[in-house]
Amino acid sequence: MSLKQDLYCHRCGKISCFCRYQKLFYDDAVIACRYENAAVPSVLKLKQTRNTNFAVFSARILAQRLQNPVYGKADCIVPVPMHPAEIRRRGYNQAAVIAAELSGLLGIPCRDDILFRNKSIAQHLLNAQERAKNVENFGIHPVSAENLHIILCDDVLTTGNTMSRCAELLKSAGAFRVTAASAATALRKADKKFRNN
Ligand SMILES: [Zn+2]
Repeated sequence: MSLKQDLYCHRCGKISCFCRYQKLFYDDAVIACRYENAAVPSVLKLKQTRNTNFAVFSARILAQRLQNPVYGKADCIVPVPMHPAEIRRRGYNQAAVIAAELSGLLGIPCRDDILFRNKSIAQHLLNAQERAKNVENFGIHPVSAENLHIILCDDVLTTGNTMSRCAELLKSAGAFRVTAASAATALRKADKKFRNN
């Protein structure tokens, strides 16, 4: 599991990226590690067994990186929301667990009263086209995020569509900057050449 900081794009959070051709609503991205090797079972444990070791571990790295002055001091941390039925089924939202850790380390409040999620199908079961449509299932409560710099937190950054859709909603409520913070970034086929770095 590589923790090297310079191996992902600081704009989009992907390793071999084409974000200059993409419309992304988040402004920058901070990643703890690549989604490979030990990170894969660690994320699964976090999702399925209440083992929060990976949340603690990744939040520490994210916090360290977010303390770089280029990110400034954000106003709040917003976890990518999960549907309430899904939270009841699993017992918690793993993105919120990472966000809570990050909140403690950075001394920045967590807010789960801004975004919500309607029932949706797990992203990993969908193809690219269906994924893009699935992100429409996020919504925003009628609250103001006027002039806020928000750290948007998730466990795995896959296509970036989820983070981008959530950032779009936050900006529609007035947020001026959204920094995507993800514990892991999923690899694309084109990333293989970087594998042994
Ligand atoms: Zn990029």
